[in-house]
Amino acid sequence: MMPARPAVFLDRDGTLIEDKGFLGDPNGVELLPTVVDALKLLAAHGFATVVISNQSGIARGLLDDVQVRSVNAEIVRRLAADGLGIDGWYWCPHYQDGCDCRKPEPALLHQAVREHGLTLDRAAMIGDRGSDVELGQRAGIAGIAVPGPMPYVGPEPDLRANTLLEAAEWIVRRGR
Ligand SMILES: [Mg+2]
Ligand SMILES: [Zn+2]
Repeated sequence: MMPARPAVFLDRDGTLIEDKGFLGDPNGVELLPTVVDALKLLAAHGFATVVISNQSGIARGLLDDVQVRSVNAEIVRRLAADGLGIDGWYWCPHYQDGCDCRKPEPALLHQAVREHGLTLDRAAMIGDRGSDVELGQRAGIAGIAVPGPMPYVGPEPDLRANTLLEAAEWIVRRGR
């Protein structure tokens, strides 16, 4: 068996790209500052990267699955220009359905671990909302908050980072 890879789980909207609220148009993708450098650092240290996103716009009828995929594909295209990739994309399409995949529920994180042969040793979940930090902490990994469009409300993060790069530096340092 291949050794399990360490992983960093990432929120999408407000963490990798500007949170524009139910973004369905790939032309609206704007990578946030330091994202490329953060992902380069994580890749250089052997971390897999997995996006876990709540896309309740689907259940609300504001978006469809094809639009979510097209936005994800645009992010992939932008990152590929810097030789970067994302190992897995997971999103919850529900809203108030009592599902087990909407953050902070941990089902998608555990699915990613199984499907990609990941280890939670040294892992972290990074996002701009309390549900991101709570998901990480519920899964027994570090929950890191980065600044988003809204003031942070949620459990005390293991780290409050000013940028995604700062978060990545902390993860890499801690993992040594
Ligand atoms: Mg977010
Ligand atoms: Zn769900």
